[in-house]
Amino acid sequence: MSRFLYADHAATTALSPRALEAMMPYFRDAYGNPSSLYAFGQQAKSDLDAARAEVARCLNAKPEEIFFTSGGTESDNWALKAVAELRGGKGRHIITSSIEHHAILHTLEHLEKAQGFSVTYLPVDSLGRVDPQAVKAAIRPDTILITVMAANNEIGTIEPIAEIAAIAREAGVLFHTDAVQAVGHIPVDVSAWNCDMLSLSGHKFHGPRGVGALYVRRGLRLPPLIHGGGQEKGRRSGTENVAGAVGLAAALREAVDGLEARSVLLAARRDRLIEGLTRLPCSRLTGDPVHRLPGTASFVFEGVEGEALLLHLDAKGICASSGSACSSASLDPSHVLLAIGLPHEVAHGSLRLSLGEENTDEDVDYLLQAVPEVVEYLRNMSPVWDKAQQKPVWNL
Ligand code: PLP
Repeated sequence: MSRFLYADHAATTALSPRALEAMMPYFRDAYGNPSSLYAFGQQAKSDLDAARAEVARCLNAKPEEIFFTSGGTESDNWALKAVAELRGGKGRHIITSSIEHHAILHTLEHLEKAQGFSVTYLPVDSLGRVDPQAVKAAIRPDTILITVMAANNEIGTIEPIAEIAAIAREAGVLFHTDAVQAVGHIPVDVSAWNCDMLSLSGHKFHGPRGVGALYVRRGLRLPPLIHGGGQEKGRRSGTENVAGAVGLAAALREAVDGLEARSVLLAARRDRLIEGLTRLPCSRLTGDPVHRLPGTASFVFEGVEGEALLLHLDAKGICASSGSACSSASLDPSHVLLAIGLPHEVAHGSLRLSLGEENTDEDVDYLLQAVPEVVEYLRNMSPVWDKAQQKPVWNL
């Protein structure tokens, strides 16, 4: 294999050299435990607090509103289960969208099955957008939480979070957003958005894997998900991952500082991909063409199996994804693609190319050459593709 082209930044990203550099001392020399009273430990504590302050600055939050976790999945679990525990006595209804990540959907399923909560899964339109008025209409007297993702991991659609959060606030309902795909990629301001809780994850913006954070608005006393030695002001126990927190903060600072310039660059490359690949017959863009993450281009190609597409692209040195990373191994079509109204047979032919700033114009050229070659090859092999008419037989 002569070429390696990573176009799966929505799955994970390479650690930024600056984040790595910032982390190194904590693996070697500065290994003190932040809970230890001697100066060596207290130095680690003050470095951890500096990382917390930096994350807070990047989100327009206060340092005491940032709690480090093991990643997006833990932050999502904590927010949902903690609100269920805190407010479950007042009501047992939760509102969400049907295109959330499984870290949200499976947690809600657990709350339904194990604790008798009832969940409204709001539909989305064909672009993957949640209608704020539908959120408003779904609120009941026993609604305790609304959780809607800031940006979708499969189709890149950005949701109207500030509008939804304002509706939640007006109704006196807590609002959480899974902003794992948004933070570091689009401007995120917890005050302007008016959210009560927000999840983020380091490895989606060139920070380390296995570290994330939950923003919790001051005054909201969430019970812990993980009990133990009382770290993170008693809300998230376990000896702190100082290297991880420092690396996350360094990566986030870098991502936020360069956000505007990078977005313009990425969006231009993304749009070249969209323009080129939607020219293929029976292919279309999935997600919102306007409210869209700058690096994410997602498609369906009729008459093609997404898994076969990925394997053939892999043979050409291209790392891409079909649906979300965790569901790529499953044969069921993605719940997101079904929710935007695609029929099963079309949803099977999905491809997500998610670019990062290290991708070049030449990478885009290569993708624009390789993807059509593979799509054409697979269609010519497929019993459902009518070669003469250049469309699948189910459209005949
Ligand atoms: N939420 C969204 C929208 C995601 O895209 C992901 C990761 O793919 C997660 C949550 C889970 O984050 P983590 O991998 O840090 O657990």
